Amino acid sequence: LAQADEAAFGIVAAEAGATANHPLMELEDLELALKKGQLRLHYQPQIEVSTGRVIGVEALVRLAGESGNLELPGSIIPAAEASGTITRIGEWVLETACAQAADWANQGLPPVRCAVNLSLAQVQHESQVERIVEIITDSGVSPGQIEIELTETSDPSDPDEVSQRLKPILDLGVSLALDDLGTGYATLSLLRRLPVEKVKIDRSFVSGLGAAHNRMEGLRAIVEMGQGLGLTVLAEGVERAEQYDTLRALGCDSYQGYYFSPALPAAELATLIARNASH
Ligand code: C2E
Ligand code: CA
Ligand code: CA
Ligand code: CA
Repeated sequence: LAQADEAAFGIVAAEAGATANHPLMELEDLELALKKGQLRLHYQPQIEVSTGRVIGVEALVRLAGESGNLELPGSIIPAAEASGTITRIGEWVLETACAQAADWANQGLPPVRCAVNLSLAQVQHESQVERIVEIITDSGVSPGQIEIELTETSDPSDPDEVSQRLKPILDLGVSLALDDLGTGYATLSLLRRLPVEKVKIDRSFVSGLGAAHNRMEGLRAIVEMGQGLGLTVLAEGVERAEQYDTLRALGCDSYQGYYFSPALPAAELATLIARNASH
C-alpha cells in the first residue's frame, strides 16, 4: 500500500470501526447477510468545488461484521451482477436509501441529493424496472432528491434498449449520473442516448495526479468533454490536497474522496451536513 492509501484506510477504519482485513466472502455469504439484515448503507459526501458545500451523497453498501462495518470485497458486486443476486441487493439498497433521504428531509436537513448505484444488470427485465418505480414511489421521497448512478461493469448493452428500460424510472423525476467514466464499455454511446446530467470520472484518472504531467492532460480532456456536453463533472477518489487543487484549476464541478470524507453511517453524515451548511 502507498502511504496515502494507508492513511486513507486508517480514516475509513477509524470512522467505520472496521478492521483492515476483508472477511473471505462468497456470494452465498452476501445473500445470507441480506437475509439476516446484516447489510448497511454508508453515505459518502459529494462536494461542490466552487463553494465547498456538500451537495449530495452516494450510498455505498457495507457489511455489518462483529468488528464494525466492513467494505465488501471488490469482486462481490460483479459476482452478484452475474448471478442476479444484485437485483435483491439493489432493491434493498434503493428502499433503504429512499427511506433515509426522506428521513433527512423530514429532519429539516439542508437538501442533498442521494445517489444510488444501479448496474445495467438491474434493468434487464421490465419487472425489475416496475419494482424500482414502485420502491421509489412508495418510499415517500421526493424523486428529485434521488440520483441513479448507472454502472456498466459487464456486457456493453444496446443503448437504445437501456434508454427504453430506464424511461419509467427517469419519468418520475429521478436524475441520472454515469459512473466510472473513462473505464471502457459503451459509455459514450450511452451518453448520447440517455438524459445524463452528471458524469463521474473514475478514480484511476485522479490517482495519478501530481505525478506525471500527461495524467493531468487526460483529466483535462475528460472534464472539458463532459462540460462541453453540458454535463456536471464529478471526480472520484480525491485523496490529497494537490489532487483537489488540480481539479479546481481544471474547473471540475464537484468531487468525492477521502480528502473530504469516506462513506459514513447515516447519523454521522447528518451531523457533517449540518456542520458544513453552517459554515
Ligand atoms: P463506485 O461506485 O465507483 O464507488 C466508489 C468506491 O471508491 C467506493 O468503494 C468508495 O468507498 C471508494 N472510495 C471513495 N473515495 C475514495 C478515495 O478517496 N480513495 C479510494 N482509494 N477509494 C475511495 P466501495 O464502497 O468498496 O464500492 C466499490 C464498488 O461497489 C462501487 O464503486 C460500486 O460499483 C459498487 N457498489 C457499492 N455499493 C453498491 C450498490 O448499492 N449497488 C451496486 N450496483 N453497486 C454498488
Ligand atoms: Ca458509484
Ligand atoms: Ca465510480
Ligand atoms: Ca469504480
